[in-house]
Formats: sequence, C-alpha cells, structure tokens
Amino acid sequence: MNQARPRIVIVGAGFGGLWAAQHLADAEADVFLIDRNNYHSFLPLLYQVAAAEIEPGQIAYPVRAILRKLRNVEFVMAEVTGVDVQRQIVTLSDGELAYDYLILALGSRTHYFGVAGAAEYAFPLKTMAHAIILRNHILRCFELAIHEQDAEKRRQLLTFAIVGGGPTGVEYAGALSELIKRPLARDYPGIELDEVSVLLIEGTDRLLGALPDKLGDYTLERLQKMGVEVLLNTFVSGVSAETVQFSDGTTLATNTVVWTAGVQGETFAEKWELPMGPGGRVLVQSTCQVDGLERVYAIGDMMYLEQDDEPLPMLAPVATQQGTFVAQNIMRQLRGEAVMSFRYKDRGAMATIGRNAAVANISSRAFTGYFAWLVWLAIHLMNLIGFRNRLIVLINWAWNYLFYERVARFIFDATIDSDKTLG
Ligand SMILES: Cc1cc2nc3c(=O)[nH]c(=O)nc-3n(C[C@H](O)[C@H](O)[C@H](O)COP(=O)(O)OP(=O)(O)OC[C@H]3O[C@@H](n4cnc5c(N)ncnc54)[C@H](O)[C@@H]3O)c2cc1C
Repeated sequence: MNQARPRIVIVGAGFGGLWAAQHLADAEADVFLIDRNNYHSFLPLLYQVAAAEIEPGQIAYPVRAILRKLRNVEFVMAEVTGVDVQRQIVTLSDGELAYDYLILALGSRTHYFGVAGAAEYAFPLKTMAHAIILRNHILRCFELAIHEQDAEKRRQLLTFAIVGGGPTGVEYAGALSELIKRPLARDYPGIELDEVSVLLIEGTDRLLGALPDKLGDYTLERLQKMGVEVLLNTFVSGVSAETVQFSDGTTLATNTVVWTAGVQGETFAEKWELPMGPGGRVLVQSTCQVDGLERVYAIGDMMYLEQDDEPLPMLAPVATQQGTFVAQNIMRQLRGEAVMSFRYKDRGAMATIGRNAAVANISSRAFTGYFAWLVWLAIHLMNLIGFRNRLIVLINWAWNYLFYERVARFIFDATIDSDKTLG
C-alpha cells in the first residue's frame, strides 16, 4: 500500500465496522479493519446456536472473504488493547498502528448490574464462544441428569433460568423450550418433561418493554402456552453455581442462569480517556465524531447519541447505517468538505417466540403470529451474509420445522476453553 495516502483504521468488524470498510472501497486512502476474530458474526441468530438449532459456522463469515475485492482495505486480526488519541495510535496485542482517521466499532458487553455472582456464574450470550459454551452446558446438564439418582439434584440440573425479558431472553426461552419438548424429550426418554423447567425472569411488569404493550402481552401468553414459567416484577439479587437468588429472599436451585438482562459499552473506552455518556458508551456528536476529536468516530453499540431526545438503541441497523454514514463523512473530510449529521431511519423491531409465532412493530403498526413469524424469517435470512449460509440455514429451519428436530445437538467441548462449570 502507498504510505503517503491517508490511513483510516477501523476497530471492530461487526455490523458497524464492516459496513464502514465496505463503503470506504472508493476512498483515496488505505483502510485497515481490525478484529480479534477472523469472522463476522450475525448476532441476531446467536440464540439459535445456543439452542442447537443451527451450527456456529452458519452465522459467521470470514472477514477476508468479504474484503477480498476491496483493493484498499486490509484486514488485521488482533486484539485492540488501547487507543492514544494524542499520538493517533491504536495499540494492538502485538504492536501498534498509526491512523489519520479512526472509526471505533467495538460493540458492547454484558451488563450484570452489579448482581453478586452474575459475572462469575451466569452464562452471557454476546459472542459465538458464549453460544457454544451455553449449548454444551445445556446438553451436558441432560447427560448428567439422566444418570442422577438424587431427585433434587436432577431437578436442579433440569431447571433453566433466563434473566431478562427483552428480545434475546424471549427468543432464547422459546427456542430452549422447543429444544427440550421434542428433540431432547426423544433423546432422553428416561427424563420426564415435568422434571424440566424453563423460567424467564423479568424485573419490570412486562416482556419486550421497547415494543408496544400488545406485543408484550401476546409474547407472555404465547410463552406460557409453551410451558415457559414467566416471572414478572422479579429481581435477581445473586447467582451461584447452584442457585439463583431473588430480592424477596427466596432462592431457586439451578445450574443454569442465562443472563440477557442488559448490555453496556466496553469499559476500556473509559480507560482510553474518551468522553463517556450513559451506559458506558462513548459520547459522539450528531456527526458521529467523538466529542472534541475531529478525526475519531464511534459507531454502533459503543457510541451514545440521542435522536428526538431518546438514545439510539443498540441494534444492528443503527450500526450499519452509522458505518455507511461515517465512511461518507470521512470521504467528505478527505475532499475538504464539511461533515454531515447522522439521522437514524428506524424501520421497526421484531422478535420471534417460537414455531409460527413472532411479534413485529413496523412503521408503528403491530403484528403478531404467523404473518410476523414469516416476516421475521424472511428478514433474518435476507440479512445473513453469504448465499451458502442462507441456503443452509433455510434447509436447517425447514428440517427442524418439518421433523421437530434440532440438528446441532453437539457438545464440542474440546475446542472451547470454558471456565464455567456445573459447580
Ligand atoms: C444475542 C443477540 C441478539 C441480537 N439480536 C438483534 C436483533 O434481532 N436485531 C438487531 O437489530 N440487533 C440485535 N442485536 C444487537 C446487534 O447485534 C448489535 O446492536 C450490533 O451487533 C452492534 O454492532 P457493532 O458494530 O456496534 O458491534 P458488534 O457487531 O458487536 O461488533 C463488534 C466487533 O468488535 C470486535 N471486538 C470487540 N472488542 C475487540 C477488541 N478489543 N479487539 C479486537 N476486536 C474487538 C468483536 O469481535 C466484534 O466483531 C443482538 C445482539 C445479541 C448479542
């Protein structure tokens, strides 16, 4: 690459970073895209990996394959350990990289709200490794339960508590309940279904708080029909390897607490002395430039920006729209033009509950049931990267639907360095 050209460094090859890189293909600049993984993850279907519905590789795509045709974009696989905005340097696990323009797109991490033991013992669902660890764990619980003679221990192994009634919690509760009801019930005939419990625990008085009430009510009814025990207005005060504790002093014996209750910005952004907004997110101006830094942008989950007095949500379309937008703003700067302000185009939100059931809020109209489910399937399939992935996911979904199967019931422990144990 020609070193005299300006250098644009993008950290994070998630939705924001990848979209920015693709839209900088025509820039008169050398672009470096850095990520700790050599693949892009389609996080909206992560819960299906954790529920043994699809294989991890079906929602991942190699970053180098995406960038192959972009002559000015180079991929660097490395852990980003620091940013020095004075020296215009990004520090990596094995060196450093100077930049003229920087796009920060490192996403978010699980927020445990300081609940005792949650970070140590609860299972998060934010990365591919998390999804595989959780899938292994659920299947291992069944393998242990089938040989367990002590009824209490057996029930503890077969009690699955999901904390957080937002889209990820709802989707995982539905998918887990379906995994247990048919495929696992057939795999483990020695386990009775009434020994197994799936609980969804939510601190407020309704599910899917960001969507209209009608959709939350429908979701509650539907999950209850599927046998999920939904606990509303219930606060978790502690988690251990063998229990979940509630703020009213009661305790539930379980080896599995899945934490989907919150996300926050990456803590390291604070260490890098970037201006921080609420939720540990980096404060940006309407142009997506970090406050006080003309050549540093932050996008997606890691930035904080309000639109119409509301913070922009941590959603994939926010990240992709901002990725595209900041690429254009940097190209304007390279041409000596003024930068523009970002405006998020909200095309709606949706969540699936299980077979034939989803909720969608599109253009302020609320949909439920089979139609919403078909829309959900179509949108998620269309947005997956790679024709092969789309085809295989579609085949898996059809197979699962027709035969009530879950094709990915594997415990691939050897490849994963899990620090979570059954206690
Ligand atoms: C389980 C789940 C389900 C979701 N479902 C939906 C949904 O249905 N619809 C929706 O719109 N949104 C959904 N989201 C939210 C959506 O995925 C995020 O809003 C979106 O991914 C944010 O994009 P981003 O580019 O900011 O971050 P990400 O897509 O998270 O990308 C961040 C990238 O940075 C890399 N990275 C992080 N730290 C480092 C480091 N130190 N060094 C190197 N690389 C690093 C990561 O490997 C990752 O590739 C879901 C999220 C999750 C976790």
